[in-house]
Amino acid sequence: MRIILNSNATAHDVAVVIGMARDVTGSREKVRVDQLDGRVVINVLLNGEPFDPTEFNRLDCVETVDESETVYVLAGSTGIDPDTGDPRKIPVEIPSIDVSVGGHDFIIMAGPCAVENEDDLMLTARIAKESGAKLLRGGAFKPRTSPYSFQGLGDDGLKILSRVRAEIGIGIITEAMEPGAVGKVGEVSDVIQIGSRNMQNFPLLLEVGRQSKPVLLKRGMSATLDEWLGAAEYILNEGNPNVILCERGIRTFSRHSRHTLDIGVIPAIRERSGLPVIVDPSHSTGSSSRVPAMAKAAIAAGADGLLVEIHPHPNRALSDSFQTLSHEEFNNLMFEMKSIAKALGRGI
Ligand code: PEP
Ligand code: MN
Repeated sequence: MRIILNSNATAHDVAVVIGMARDVTGSREKVRVDQLDGRVVINVLLNGEPFDPTEFNRLDCVETVDESETVYVLAGSTGIDPDTGDPRKIPVEIPSIDVSVGGHDFIIMAGPCAVENEDDLMLTARIAKESGAKLLRGGAFKPRTSPYSFQGLGDDGLKILSRVRAEIGIGIITEAMEPGAVGKVGEVSDVIQIGSRNMQNFPLLLEVGRQSKPVLLKRGMSATLDEWLGAAEYILNEGNPNVILCERGIRTFSRHSRHTLDIGVIPAIRERSGLPVIVDPSHSTGSSSRVPAMAKAAIAAGADGLLVEIHPHPNRALSDSFQTLSHEEFNNLMFEMKSIAKALGRGI
């Protein structure tokens, strides 16, 4: 159910309605506050319980009560920060590497599309770490459009990730494509990635929700914000509060780029959800020449970090070579991003 307040509702009105909604559900967790077109919306999770909206409809501050099912509550906003007046954000902690996503610093995750061999990955991890990246990305299991394309090294790729992590001392983010692989992916990684094509793979979402490693949930390439937050809700509702959203571009009518990076979704998320959001400028543009511009735009627009593809020899990369930055290009980008971070009062 959603209780939509009128635009004149005061802070006191909001507090009263929240209190009444908590009385109905018996729990703080089941009531979350959103903003929609300048009005306050109070989402109430009823879990199928019968409910009489009369007492809410009677209040002057209530515009309407929408009794349809609420898509998400845990992924919703947690109100306004009294110090800054901005919607409150809840950082995701990655304790294994002492990193917080959604806090003061932008968190950069960089590495090849796929784990290819140990020497290249070791070199990339060293460069990434020296430039200020906190996590190394690289798929051991790759979701490819064609079954004839390189599918990743599988379990051998996980072993390489694990050795590189131990040697270089950098965090690892890598993708799990099926529920049965979540355990072993979680053993070698600090963050488990759910790819765009799996955003609504509900058994997979439930499985990552039942373990505690942070999850990077990429936006489905045709998903609305509500569908994306609904997918996050599956993970949160299983008990894992550590969900980081990742905008990676959506399908539109544009043919000039692989996907269209939806920068506008960043402030829209801030209005509706407390979850941190990072941006993938690589899969969205599909072109290394455009990655730096979109990376800078993303952090200027309020993203909490980036997921970027880099490789020692991009033209030899076994997947996504066109969109992959060389180590030198990545270093240049990091140099520029540090000044943007400084101007924004944040760090890298
Ligand atoms: C990836 O980041 O490795 C990937 C496959 O991206 P996406 O799921 O966004 O296509
Ligand atoms: Mn890729």
